[in-house]
Amino acid sequence: MSYPTTETLRDRAVAALERCGADPAAFGGGAAARSPITGAEVLPVGHASAADADAAIGRAEAAFRVWRTTPAPARGALVRRFGELLREHKSDLADLVTIEVGKSRSEAAGEVQEMIDVCEFAVGLSRQLYGRTMPSERPGHRLMETWHPLGVVGVVTAFNFPVAVWSWNTAVALVCGNTVVWKPSELAPLTALGCHALLARAAAEAGAPADVHQVVLGGAEVGGRLVDDSRVALLSATGSVRMGREVGPRVAARFGRSLLELGGNNAAVVTDSADLDLAVRGVVFAAAGTAGQRCTSLRRLIVHEDVADALVDRVVDAYSKLRIGDPFDDSTLVGPLIGPGAYEAMRGALRRAEEAGGTVLVGGGRRLAETAPGAYYAEPAVVRMPVQAEVVREETFAPILYVLTYSDFDEAVALHNAVPQGLSSSVFTRDQREAERFLAADGSDCGIVNVNIGTSGAEIGGAFGGEKETGGGRESGSDSWRAYMRRATNTVNFSEELPLAQGVSFL
Ligand code: NAD
Repeated sequence: MSYPTTETLRDRAVAALERCGADPAAFGGGAAARSPITGAEVLPVGHASAADADAAIGRAEAAFRVWRTTPAPARGALVRRFGELLREHKSDLADLVTIEVGKSRSEAAGEVQEMIDVCEFAVGLSRQLYGRTMPSERPGHRLMETWHPLGVVGVVTAFNFPVAVWSWNTAVALVCGNTVVWKPSELAPLTALGCHALLARAAAEAGAPADVHQVVLGGAEVGGRLVDDSRVALLSATGSVRMGREVGPRVAARFGRSLLELGGNNAAVVTDSADLDLAVRGVVFAAAGTAGQRCTSLRRLIVHEDVADALVDRVVDAYSKLRIGDPFDDSTLVGPLIGPGAYEAMRGALRRAEEAGGTVLVGGGRRLAETAPGAYYAEPAVVRMPVQAEVVREETFAPILYVLTYSDFDEAVALHNAVPQGLSSSVFTRDQREAERFLAADGSDCGIVNVNIGTSGAEIGGAFGGEKETGGGRESGSDSWRAYMRRATNTVNFSEELPLAQGVSFL
């Protein structure tokens, strides 16, 4: 099997960028885009200074003054055109996602599809930003609410969904009348520049202000400019709990709004009535897919003791057959980790799990070290644990699946909820009472609770996000749009009297 060289990846990236309308020669320098496929630098890219970030926020603020009074369905026309361009360039953007993040081609294409889907959702939404009318307690009065745009929305994104999460925020924020400044992950600048070029083209074609969307490249310090700038009305930040802990209080200190989408530590409960065929497929995709680098990746398997051995044997068997390697190869299911740090974190977690009494049943080794010495291809690991030790309660952003057993369903729910994070969860069962119990108020405490399906791979139509240390934010579908608007409550008096509410008399 031939393995991609950094030169072939560079050529492929340049071609994809050019087709998207971005000019790699104009990217400047100061930073570099790398590929986890070889671990090497692919292209130089720019790095925003503090002044660049401030200027980008200023441009977005000026554009907001025009955009906020553009009728919402006309704003939808921009997002519709952007969605069409995404469809045309799906393969180009998927190439960039694979090159920068190492996702398999199918998962990278799925990520771009998610952008297309959320654009369609947002276009529909542009005619449905409904406010309510409530009965007034006073005669000749009308009580209603109106939703207005917020202002500049800062979007800070993580490496592992380099564009889908940005699009959830941006498509919805734009139809809501906001402008956007995006600080993409420093690990995925090319994908961001490709998307930005397409959105700029859509803006020109749809007659939207050119500055409706800005990109600023760089790391935490550039993101920090969005965090602390009071012109940024809403900061939507996706990443680790560590990042959220730094960012949340700083935005709150200036009374800004934040929408935090942070780490998960997702579990599936497999009961003794579960369809094990279904459970094995659901578990393996959720735990090993994307090399365990999804916020919704399955990290804990809580299995009834009567089916634990049978299920674990089948999962271990499936793991030993996973194709690991070049994500551009269609037969590959598991690509590289993002970098050496991720592999070290995985090795460290496996060591700690063993010290806590765990047994590594499969995986943990490194592949392709000779072919691609700068890249880190990890064998997804399954570890049987005697208890939910400290290491299991943490999110290690790598493909490790910890297995715990239970005998009573209440015990399974308690184990499930006994972690600081609260993103995604699932139960595999054929017992309706168990399924309903898991969905109930005293069941899973996560933002996403599934039945007979894994923890990852959410659709855009629902609200996405989680509780506890996951940050509480909700993005994408359902009524998540409300986070991107401000609500005005209006009381209109069309009578000739001035009755006061609550029957108060004055004058
Ligand atoms: P990260 O926290 O290292 O970085 C995320 C983004 O935040 C990057 O753009 C980074 O530059 C920026 N950043 C970091 N510190 C900052 C600061 N102090 N001020 C401003 N910006 C700052 O995360 P990562 O390694 O890129 O991504 C993996 C993490 O993201 C995992 O924990 C994963 O669970 C989480 N994640 C969560 C969701 C979700 O929707 N809940 C989605 C994707 C990823």
